[in-house]
Amino acid sequence: MTTVRTRIAPSPTGDPHVGTAYIALFNLCFARQHGGQFILRIEDTDQLRSTRESEQQIYDALRWLGIEWDEGPDVGGPHGPYRQSERGHIYKQYSDELVAKGHAFPCFCSAERLDAVRAEQMANKETPRYDGHCMHIDPAEAQQRIAAGEAHVVRMKVPTEGVCVVPDMLRGEVEIPWDRMDMQVLMKTDGLPTYFLANVVDDHLMGITHVLRGEEWLPSAPKLIKLYEYFGWEQPQLCYMPLLRNPDKSKLSKRKNPTSVTFYQRMGYLPEAMLNYLGRMGWSMPDEREKFSLAEMVEHFDLSRVSLGGPIFDVDKLSWLNGQWLRELPVERFAAEIQKWALNPQYLMQIAPHVQNRVETFSQLAPLAGFFFMGGVSPDAKLFEHKKLSPEQVRQALQLILWKLEALRQWNKDNITAIINAVAAFMGCKLRDLMPLIFPAISGQASSVSVLDAMEILGPDLSRFRLRQAVELLGGVSKKETKEWEKLLAAIE
Ligand code: GLU
Repeated sequence: MTTVRTRIAPSPTGDPHVGTAYIALFNLCFARQHGGQFILRIEDTDQLRSTRESEQQIYDALRWLGIEWDEGPDVGGPHGPYRQSERGHIYKQYSDELVAKGHAFPCFCSAERLDAVRAEQMANKETPRYDGHCMHIDPAEAQQRIAAGEAHVVRMKVPTEGVCVVPDMLRGEVEIPWDRMDMQVLMKTDGLPTYFLANVVDDHLMGITHVLRGEEWLPSAPKLIKLYEYFGWEQPQLCYMPLLRNPDKSKLSKRKNPTSVTFYQRMGYLPEAMLNYLGRMGWSMPDEREKFSLAEMVEHFDLSRVSLGGPIFDVDKLSWLNGQWLRELPVERFAAEIQKWALNPQYLMQIAPHVQNRVETFSQLAPLAGFFFMGGVSPDAKLFEHKKLSPEQVRQALQLILWKLEALRQWNKDNITAIINAVAAFMGCKLRDLMPLIFPAISGQASSVSVLDAMEILGPDLSRFRLRQAVELLGGVSKKETKEWEKLLAAIE
């Protein structure tokens, strides 16, 4: 009997998402329950958006939660490398194989031509798709053009009629019409594979037997299935896990709920409670108990208990569950966990240089620097009254800064300052005019230690959360304003 092997394959392009942790947890439980292995693969073929920092954050976030993998870029294993950017040589060979077998073809179409085709199809109310222009180029001619260095991609052929039957472990057979599938690009002009090719090749070479992935990938399943068929490989069992949702049932998004695992860490949730809550997403224990450990979940895990109704990720419920966990900890462990959370030497050393000159006794620390140990800070709305800016401008300035900070990749004082400066310039004022808004938003007080340093120390999750709360306190941003103000962002540099 083959050993069960599951994996997660996150792309390191942003904050470590709770959805990644959720899918990881279910893959881990499935593998452990069958005595199999769980693999972590980094899908970083998008060179522009992938970063090593984001990759490290994924490791840190999963480990914090208690999720461990048997093979991965950082722990090695017999099927490495586990980072797709280090497997470039492998994909080319498989892409060539598909072209040689006539299942894929080089495509030389320019972006202008593709745009024109798309525009025409849209005008005719057709679904935009590649029109097959390069499909019939003579292979010898195509090889010559490639040898001459002409830019090209490789596209896969797809059937134009009939349906693809996707065997899903949760839904049974899902039928998806082939005419919804485009001739997917498999290799980009930069010679790197797209998700589709790299994912199939790696799952095969890494011996993955079961793929539990998010339901958002179901519509593209036919392309993957076709690729397995073209290669003549056995397809892993597929399982499309229900998407996490906001309490209003919309897809979990950071506009409505913090989605980064690190946010929950900084807020002071216990990793076991967080993992327990993720285990409650679409799944329940046979006896329906709410509080359970990872070991208990593995012991009782059964994929057939996954329900397809979209699981709601509700921060209030998570907090309730966290409270249960905290109350049942032995008091020594409770104290130790607080120390680990924020009373650790590393965190205190970041804060110390900013408070040392400002206190005469340690007992002045709590009023001065208490906000380093808080989640939200509840400032008084009066603190946002401004001499020069109208209430609407105040809200706008805070919202623009928040959006800019949401897109900021390198979180440090210089970059934060540059953003506030840029928004100030855009609004026709100075950095020092906006700082009186940032102080209460971040520290809850009219003044405190250097707030720009504080933002660097607090990190992106808590800083953004507090700015968002400040905007909410001042009345929030309407849909209309969101639309109008978002357009302004491009002009702020
Ligand atoms: N790289 C994909 C992601 O970011 C992997 C999806 C899959 O599991 O196939 O989620």
